[in-house]
Amino acid sequence: MTGLKAALSIVFAIGIAACTTTTSGYQPQHYSPQPAIDMLEALSADALQGRGVGTEGSAAARVMIIDRLEALGVSAVGESYEHPFKYGPFRNPQTGEDAVPDKDGINVIAMIPGMLTGGPSMVVTAHYDHLGVREGEIYNGTDDNASGVVGALALAEHFSNTPPQHDVYFVFFDAEEDGFGGARDFISNPPLPLETVALNLNFDMVSRGDNGILWASGTHHWPDMVARVDAVAATAPVSVERGYDTGDGRDDWTMLSDHAVFFRAGIPHIYFGVEDHPDYHRPSDDFENVDQEWFLKSVDTLAMMAEAMDADLGEILTMRRAANAD
Ligand SMILES: [Zn+2]
Repeated sequence: MTGLKAALSIVFAIGIAACTTTTSGYQPQHYSPQPAIDMLEALSADALQGRGVGTEGSAAARVMIIDRLEALGVSAVGESYEHPFKYGPFRNPQTGEDAVPDKDGINVIAMIPGMLTGGPSMVVTAHYDHLGVREGEIYNGTDDNASGVVGALALAEHFSNTPPQHDVYFVFFDAEEDGFGGARDFISNPPLPLETVALNLNFDMVSRGDNGILWASGTHHWPDMVARVDAVAATAPVSVERGYDTGDGRDDWTMLSDHAVFFRAGIPHIYFGVEDHPDYHRPSDDFENVDQEWFLKSVDTLAMMAEAMDADLGEILTMRRAANAD
């Protein structure tokens, strides 16, 4: 079988197998719960083999994401949703010389035009790759990061029903788990003028409410965002706390996911995620371990955040420009 045929047969098999009715009675305000739960389960299925970069499982994940975008009527950016890229070592560690990127990844990029299209834009990101199969064990990566992908797709559903003020890009990154390959390519070969990007919202691990807290990280670098985040948090269905954006090592998440690449480019970000849990980067990061009710509330919270930031995007771009000029 060709790679694409194999990917499609995986998607078909999962379409039949994955149909867990949501166990939560929570009714999200911004999106439909059942497709969200179905997508979380399907992206996490063993058949996707942990969505390692360049695998048939990775291709199957892209088919599912693109099918959903098409069903929602959300258009591709450029000629295709799929944006292939090369990545890899940027410098030879032995010699210090520039190295030739030799690995292949594929980002998926879509956009919903705003009422004020062509002005400030918001880039919503979530990586769809995970660790693949290691020593015979499948790393399904439900929280990391099928959950963020579902969050971004739920937002696409919301904004396709209620058009945003500004252009909203949806970028599903490949190769986050391998040096932020997809995010680096997006910033190096951007499909839109980067100076128009007011804000990156990055979703990475948003389903595990083990301690009930969804963290919003990044406001330490962008103090003007504090009040904006807190205003939404005040009425959000889950507890939102700000932090993990200063300090040492793993206490500072600024450089630990794709938003790092936006940060280095001077683009404001807010990263949403949960603390590391016992299944983090383990084969047990599975669908069954997600509290569906908390997850649905977490995604509703992300939509509230995005809606509020969209409404204020002109001001946020002004803030970015003032900070970049300093
Ligand atoms: Zn991740």
